[in-house]
Amino acid sequence: MSKRRPLVAGNWKMNGSQAESTALVNGIKQGLASVNTAEVAVCPPFILIPLVATLLKGSNAVWGGQNLSVHKSGAYTGETAGPMLKDYGSTYVIVGHSERRSYYGETDKLVAEKFGAAQAAGLIPILCIGETLAEREANQTESVVARQLDAVIQMHGIAALKNSVLAYEPVWAIGTGKTATPQQAQDVHAFIRGRLAALDKGVADGMRILYGGSMKASNAKELMAQPDIDGGLIGGASLVAEEFLNICRAA
Ligand code: PEP
Repeated sequence: MSKRRPLVAGNWKMNGSQAESTALVNGIKQGLASVNTAEVAVCPPFILIPLVATLLKGSNAVWGGQNLSVHKSGAYTGETAGPMLKDYGSTYVIVGHSERRSYYGETDKLVAEKFGAAQAAGLIPILCIGETLAEREANQTESVVARQLDAVIQMHGIAALKNSVLAYEPVWAIGTGKTATPQQAQDVHAFIRGRLAALDKGVADGMRILYGGSMKASNAKELMAQPDIDGGLIGGASLVAEEFLNICRAA
């Protein structure tokens, strides 16, 4: 078995009322005892964080934000800072999700700044990288993920990656029901780990690289059986407690 503890993180995106989120968290909590290996995390929308953080208190599951500001505080209307997440007890924060990159214009440079802001606040960034369908078809998968990864390494140095998680999320597989095959995912994960290893073998060996993109209970086992896949970042399937738990159990 890999020495890396798998992480299964649910990205709720912009979903959930207070009642739905309470039921979801309570459902996850009830099943946690049957999750033997994986670390379990949920990433709710900001407004649901106080509720979710309270519900999760005392359980084995942790939580994270879906985004953060590059700033620590101040006149930035509508933004949420890393120290605010930390204040509520956040462990993780997603940075560079493809929806942030494509809908909100987040560049590689901004994502790298957010990565630094997360670590400065004592949070573990989950850095998302991945290619679009057009990029895959143009044979640019490796150059795209390398560019996205290198932006962070250039800004913060390879050692900064020690305290982070990577998520390979092919954009064409997110929310589409189209999953990368285990081999397609493994190939990119191995490429990413190899790129890290060329700079620092210790960082490469310890790095948890999650797969994200239409992962569900029925395909999780096969994906996570790949040697370089260390868990999952789960969108749609993380909104149903039993489905999410079954992915956690598969890890
Ligand atoms: C995601 O958005 O991180 C994701 C993987 O979504 P889905 O599981 O719905 O494809």
